[in-house]
Amino acid sequence: MDLDREQESQNIEDRRGRRVSRGIAGGGIGTLLIILLALFFGVDPRMLLQGTGNVQETNYPDAPVPQSQQPGKEDEMRQFVAKVLGSTERTWSEIFQAGGRTYQKPTLVLFSDAVESACGFAQAAAGPFYCGEDQKVYIDLSFYRDLRQRFQAPGDFAQAYVIAHEVGHHVQNQLGIMRKVQSLQSRSSERDANALSVRLELQADCLAGIWANYAHRERNILEEGDIEEGLNAAAQIGDDRMQKRAQGYVVPEGFTHGSAQQRVQWFRRGIQSGDLKQCDTFSRGPLS
Ligand SMILES: [Zn+2]
Repeated sequence: MDLDREQESQNIEDRRGRRVSRGIAGGGIGTLLIILLALFFGVDPRMLLQGTGNVQETNYPDAPVPQSQQPGKEDEMRQFVAKVLGSTERTWSEIFQAGGRTYQKPTLVLFSDAVESACGFAQAAAGPFYCGEDQKVYIDLSFYRDLRQRFQAPGDFAQAYVIAHEVGHHVQNQLGIMRKVQSLQSRSSERDANALSVRLELQADCLAGIWANYAHRERNILEEGDIEEGLNAAAQIGDDRMQKRAQGYVVPEGFTHGSAQQRVQWFRRGIQSGDLKQCDTFSRGPLS
């Protein structure tokens, strides 16, 4: 990627190295225990955490607890993240403005090991996530090492995709889509709620693609091989591959983020079209 023409976002909250108390509010030891049990039994922990807030994760339930990285590398990564976030701010501000709306920029929280969000306590092992309650994206940078090694998705555009996907959830939140879906889910069976979650996640992938399309058209960010890197990352974190890695077999009814093929398809659709209307994952029939 070429991010030379991108401005670093000012909306980064650096909580790295801060200790988090795990007691009291929302999360806590009980929640943590449930998450660990859920991971052990291969259940999506978010199913058990519903009611603590609207968390949308990118689907890395079986990521190992990361170790800390060297400081020099981390500062480089911090700058990278700030530029990608800055790029999404520019793109979404323009798109919202064209539609007569104002884009409220999200904050991106960098943390290490564990963090307290308005949606509850979260461990780095759960992967990057967006919390609709405080409108913040949370990421532990050591996740990128897992993306590279454990998920076999190297490359800077793969890393940018992770942020753009979480920002996609913020866009859904701004547009009221997230609230509508959660309200529907609260009245649905588990199976239907999962299917709705898949549509929400695939839309976030498509919105990530919309950002890439705009930023590339306007500021030429993509280089040879970038799109393949991004699509590979989308495939590697598809539910089927995640389940296979975690438990050795695949249960399609348990999908909450979409299969590898679906994630690639919707991310590509956004990248290629740059057209928001192409990201309507809700008003079509069964998703292929
Ligand atoms: Zn997501």
